[in-house]
Amino acid sequence: MMPVITIDGPSGAGKSTVSRKLATILGYKYIDSGALYRIVALETMRRHIDENDDTALAQICNNIEVTFFNANGKQKIICGGHDISGLIRKPEISMLASRLSARKITRDYLTALQRKMAENEKIVLEGRDAGTVVFPYAKIKFFLDATPEERGKRRFEELTLKGLQVDLKQITQDIIKRDNNDRSRRYAPLLPASDAVIIDSTAMTIDEVVARMIQTIKQKNEEYS
Ligand code: C5P
Repeated sequence: MMPVITIDGPSGAGKSTVSRKLATILGYKYIDSGALYRIVALETMRRHIDENDDTALAQICNNIEVTFFNANGKQKIICGGHDISGLIRKPEISMLASRLSARKITRDYLTALQRKMAENEKIVLEGRDAGTVVFPYAKIKFFLDATPEERGKRRFEELTLKGLQVDLKQITQDIIKRDNNDRSRRYAPLLPASDAVIIDSTAMTIDEVVARMIQTIKQKNEEYS
């Protein structure tokens, strides 16, 4: 198996920025598994598909053709030839992704897709179940957390910067709701792997989190060598 570093945690904990930076520093490929769940949500909405229609969901998951690339430090996501980077971040897509991600059919397909994407590359995989379900044997696992208030504030700033009109209270409530969905679902609930290093980023900068991760990776690599 190629080396995999997993970074799990709730929404708004800073996983994307940290994962991207860490991947760049290490020369690994960054995979944003949340984007895959968001793509399924976007397609479900576009095609007016019933959320409970497992056959239609399987068909969407089976036909995902996605390319992630880094454009001046920002992630661009091309799906079916279209740049959907902005579209999939809309709050209604976040909520639908959270509901669809609780369905076994979606998880089965997207877990297989993530494993395939990692077949020939060293990867930093960001998600909710990367260290528990997708790559339970990964040697380096992190669980990044922060208080719901701090996470709401970060998500609000991120969306406002993208030009979206959003309300801080609503964003924080949505984050708490998505966390509850993710933590309480039957399949692959959000929880730290027993061997994950937990980092509370509430009072930390992105660079401090990345530095802590690099230090941990060095220590773990020494233990394993
Ligand atoms: O990480 P992001 O906020 O983009 O993920 C969107 C939604 O997709 C999450 O709220 C979660 O419900 C779901 N998700 C998941 N498993 C993953 C990644 C995301 O269930 N590995």
